[in-house]
Amino acid sequence: MTDIQLYNTRTRQKQRLEPLDPANVRMYVCGPTVYDRAHLGNARPVVVFDVLYRLLRHVYGADHVTYVRNFTDVDDKINAAALARKQAGDPRPLEELIRERTEETIGWYHADMDALGALRPGQEPRATEFIGAMIAMIEDLIAKGHAYAAEGHVLFRVRSYKDYGALSGRSVDDMIAGARVEVAPFKEDPMDFVLWKPSDGDLPGWDSPWGRGRPGWHIECSAMSYELLGPSFDIHGGGIDLQFPHHENEIAQSCCAHPEGDFAKVWMHNEMLLVEGKKMSKSLGNFFTVRDLLDQGVPGEVIRFVLLMTHYRKPMDWTADKVRLAENTLERWRTFTANLEPSPENDFEADPSVIEALADDLNTHLAISKLNALKSEPQKLLDNARLLGFLSDESRRGKMVHAIPVSVGGEDDLFWGNDYILLYKMRDRLVELRNSAMETKDFFEVDRLKALLIGAGVEVRMSKAGVELVPGAGFDPARLEALE
Ligand code: AMP
Ligand code: ZN
Repeated sequence: MTDIQLYNTRTRQKQRLEPLDPANVRMYVCGPTVYDRAHLGNARPVVVFDVLYRLLRHVYGADHVTYVRNFTDVDDKINAAALARKQAGDPRPLEELIRERTEETIGWYHADMDALGALRPGQEPRATEFIGAMIAMIEDLIAKGHAYAAEGHVLFRVRSYKDYGALSGRSVDDMIAGARVEVAPFKEDPMDFVLWKPSDGDLPGWDSPWGRGRPGWHIECSAMSYELLGPSFDIHGGGIDLQFPHHENEIAQSCCAHPEGDFAKVWMHNEMLLVEGKKMSKSLGNFFTVRDLLDQGVPGEVIRFVLLMTHYRKPMDWTADKVRLAENTLERWRTFTANLEPSPENDFEADPSVIEALADDLNTHLAISKLNALKSEPQKLLDNARLLGFLSDESRRGKMVHAIPVSVGGEDDLFWGNDYILLYKMRDRLVELRNSAMETKDFFEVDRLKALLIGAGVEVRMSKAGVELVPGAGFDPARLEALE
C-alpha cells in the first residue's frame, strides 16, 4: 500500500499517515460561513483537500474514506447580511431572511466548487442541525470544570487546559499579548472564549440551560466532528488563518470534553492566496469571487490547475501568466486524449510517479509535471489526470469540436510556452471562418487570416479533416498577439 507522508502542523514535520482504521479513514475540513459567494482564497482549501480526498480514495478505496466539511450557517456575519436586507426595506421576518441567505449561499457554493471539479464531501453538516449536540457538549464542559456560565454567556476556561497553544506553538501569555481578545466584565480571564451567547430580539436563538441563545463558532466544529467522526479521527484541515484561534479552541473543547480521544491526529493547513502580498479576504475588500472568474470565461478546470501549480504550504498569487500556462497545458492534454474513453475510477493504471508525488505531502506541482511527461501514453495521461480532478467528462465535452492538433516541437519542459495558447485560438477562429465561408462562398476572411498566420511563420494545413497549424522555425508569436 502506498505510504502517504503528510506535514502535520502540530508536530511540525512530515509524518507517515497511519489511519486509526484503514477501513474508514476520517477527515474533517472547516467549511465556509455561508453569507456570501466564495472568493478565490476560499477555493484553495477546497481544491487542496479535494486532491487529498481523491488520493485517500485511491489508496484506501472509495468506500473507505469519510470526508466531512461543514457549513457554518449560524454566525453574526450571516445575521448582519440579513439585517442589512431588512433595513433596506424587506418586510419579511429576520429568520426567513437568514434562511433565504444561507440556502442561497449554499447553492452558490455547490455550483462554484462543482465547477472547480471538487468532489462533494460525503457529509456536509450544517451547524443549525447540530445545536442539541453543541448544548450537550457545553454542559459536559461545564460539569468537568472547563467552562462556566455568566450573564447568559458560557465561556471556555482556557487556563484549565494545559496544552492550550500547542498547535500554534505559543504560550497563553504570548497569545494574550498578540491577540485582539475581547475583554468583557463577565470573563474570568481575557483569553476565555465564547461557547454560547445570548440572542436578543429576533436574532436566531435556541432554548438552552443558559437562556435563549446561539453557539459560538468554535464549538460548532467540535460538536459536528465528534458526532460524525467520533472522539479520534485522522486528519483535520483548513486554512492557516484558522490555526489560531479557531483550531486551538477546537482542540481545547474536544480534548477536554472527550479525554478518551485524541481529536485529530494530523493537522493540515493550506497557506493563503495573496493579492499584492496580502491575504485575499472579504474584510480587506481585495477579493474576487470564483463566480467572477467563471463568468469572465475562465474555465473551472483552469482555476483548479492554477491553484494546484503551487504547493499548498506556500503562499501564492493569481496571475494572468499562470492562467495562460494552465489553459495551454490543459488544451494539450485534451487534444492528446480526445479520442479515448477514460478507464473506470477504480480500475486504471495509476502512474507511480504521479502517485508518489501526491503521496509526498501533496506535491501537486510535481504531479502535474509527471502527468505532462505522460504525453506519449495518452490513456495513462487521461486516467491519471482524472485522478487529480482534471479532464472530467464535463471539461472534455464541447471543447473537442475542433480536435485537430496544433503540431509543436517535442519539448520536454514542464509546460509548453505560453504562446501556443494563441495558436489554439487562431486555429479555432480559422475553423469558424472556414465553416461560415462554406455557406457564403466568400473566403476573403479565411484567406486573410491564413496570410497573417503565414506571415507569423506558421504553416497552415487545411484539409477536409480539419485545420492544422504548424509553427515553423521562424515562428514569431508577437505577430499573433497583434491578431488577438
Ligand atoms: P471562512 O469562510 O472565512 O471561514 O473561510 C473558509 C475557508 O477558506 C477556511 O478554510 C479559510 O482558511 C480559507 N481561506 C480564507 N481566505 C483564504 C485565502 N486568502 N487563501 C487561502 N485560504 C483562505
Ligand atoms: Zn472549524
